[in-house]
Parts: sequence; C-alpha cells; structure tokens
Amino acid sequence: MAESVIENYTVGWICALQEEYEAACRMLDDEFEPPDKLNIDIKDDNIYEYGMINGHYVVIGCLPSGRSGVVSAAIVAKDMARSFPNLRFALMVGIGGGAPTLERDVRLGDVVVSQPEGDLGGVVQFDLGKRFQIGGGIRGNGEGADEVLFKRTGQLNSPPAVLLGAMPRLLRLHRDTRKPDKLAEHIKLMDDMPSFRRPDWDVLYKTHYLHQSAGKTCQNCQKDQIVQRQPRPGNREVMIHYGTIASSNMLMENAVERDRYAKELGVICFEMEAAGLMNNLPCLVIRGICSYSDSHKNDEWNNYAALTAAAYAKELLSTVRHAKVKEMPSWAGKFQISKQMVGAPPLPPPSNIQRFAEGGPSIYQVYT
Ligand SMILES: [Zn+2]
Repeated sequence: MAESVIENYTVGWICALQEEYEAACRMLDDEFEPPDKLNIDIKDDNIYEYGMINGHYVVIGCLPSGRSGVVSAAIVAKDMARSFPNLRFALMVGIGGGAPTLERDVRLGDVVVSQPEGDLGGVVQFDLGKRFQIGGGIRGNGEGADEVLFKRTGQLNSPPAVLLGAMPRLLRLHRDTRKPDKLAEHIKLMDDMPSFRRPDWDVLYKTHYLHQSAGKTCQNCQKDQIVQRQPRPGNREVMIHYGTIASSNMLMENAVERDRYAKELGVICFEMEAAGLMNNLPCLVIRGICSYSDSHKNDEWNNYAALTAAAYAKELLSTVRHAKVKEMPSWAGKFQISKQMVGAPPLPPPSNIQRFAEGGPSIYQVYT
C-alpha cells in the first residue's frame, strides 16, 4: 500500500499543545498506520500521526506534553527530518497572541499567517533574555515602562515560495463572500466536541488597563475599559491576516510592548516556537489567535483558536498542488540547531511588576 511508504511523506505539520494536536488530526482526509521501515530514534519522544490531505502525505509531529518553546520546536523538526527523508516543508500550526491595531483588526479566533513584509521575512525573533537589561528603566511608579526595549536578534527566512504563491488565491476566495466558506466547513469537522466551539465573548481592553484579579476571569475588570468595536461585516466568522509574527521563548502578556511591536515592526501575532524552525527548514507559521497578548489572557479561546489555525492549514494544503511540492528539494540532512535559537535564559522579573500567567515565563506589564 502506498501509504506505508515512508518516502511518500512530503509535508511536516508541527504543533506543541494537546488541542493543536487534536485539531490537526481531525483535518486529515485519511489517516494511516505508521509507515513500514519507520525508524524512530530511541530519544525521539515526539508524538506522530500519519495521513493525507489533498494528495499530500502529511506527518503530524507534536511536542511531548509540557514542552514548548523555540528549542523544543527545533528538536521536533530535527527528529522529523531524520525519520522522514523526503519532507519538503513544515507547517507550524497552533495558537498565538494577537496584536490588534486600528489598521489590523485582529480578533480572537482569527488566523495569522507568516508572510514577508518590507525587509522582514514573516517571522522575527527577539531575545527576551535582554528584556530587563536597562535596569532602572522600570521605576516603582510605573514611569519609564515605555522605555523598556526588546532587542531583535535576527532575521529569519521567508516561507517557501510554493506556499506564498498559494496565498493570494486563498485570500481572494475567502474574501469573496459569494464563495463557500471553506474554513467554516473545516471547522465543522470538530462540531462533535463542545470544548472546541467558539466562545461567546471577545473582549479587548484598553492598552494601559491591567487585569484586576489574581484569577483568570475578567469579572472584576471594568467594562468602561473595553475597546468598543463594530461587529464584523460580512458572513465570515474567521478572518485571515497575513504579515509579521514575532517569536520568542516567552509568552507576551504586555499590551504596551505588544502595541510597540505592532507599531514599529508591523507585528500582528506573538508566539513561542517558530524561531526554532525558520532558518533551518522551509516553514510557514499559522496561528489561531487565542488572546490579545495582554494581562487579561486566559485559556478560553485556546481550543477554538487551535481549530481555526488547523482549518487554515488544511485549506492551504487543499490549494497547493502535490506535484508542485514534489519539485521542491527535501530538507533531510540540512537541519542544524543554531546557538541563536537557544538564546539567553530569561531573567527574573523586577519586583514591582505583577504576574498572572501560570505554567511558563511571560512578558509582564508594569502596574501604573
Ligand atoms: Zn481582565
């Protein structure tokens, strides 16, 4: 059977979280047993699933539970390259934090796709180990918060041309409201799972207004601090945004910094894995927006955002022809984990800032 041939697999689909993995598996047209001759390294503890979308053989690789970040993503990609010699590119599919601006109306559940803009290649990495190095810049009264600087550490490669070439058509079909809403059709593939349904509320707070509770819900946050937004026009529930994604080992939960990155670099999304891949293999980053990268972040939208990102990935693979992909060179044997990926370890936060996130390092917002 063709599906048992390891050399057939040309597309890697990489995810990090359980909900991303579940959504990815639901997008497969067919699921296959592990291929014959599969030689998974004893040290390779990633989870793999196998299947097909629109004639593409797809191997889904998920980071082991509890591991995320730039280096972990690089390791799963390296493991995949070793086990699947004919992979042509990877899709990094999962959730991320949005950076809404007046120009870019990014909302929860939308999808952001890495696309080169200006002199940026679609993903920028910044070294958060240097986040607090201007010691004294954050003063106890909150003044000086705007002086805090990130250092952008490098330029990352652009996504493969075969994928970029498919985007204009995808965008046109999605914008044309007379056409079928393919994303909505793919999203329906998880209709049987209530936990993946679209949450009811989508609230964006003003930039300088901080979350008012040690808990995750915003029930103590003031309603007059909510940004008033018009309902979305048209009949598309999920919008797609193409542009620059910022990647680092830390979670962005700081609306002031979010807005600065949006203004200065045109960043529309923050995430934690892509920088581990972009300079080492042809890769496109697809992120469902689960938060506004601020102190009000909670997990309510994670499942649905993972689903919308997976739905976009399916639609992309449904648009790209298999023959075009096969023409690309494989990336086996070319993979290296660079020192830059590892980066500096995060520094502890200054004592005058409050942290609400659990489970990992974050970028904090100073109380004012
Ligand atoms: Zn809140």
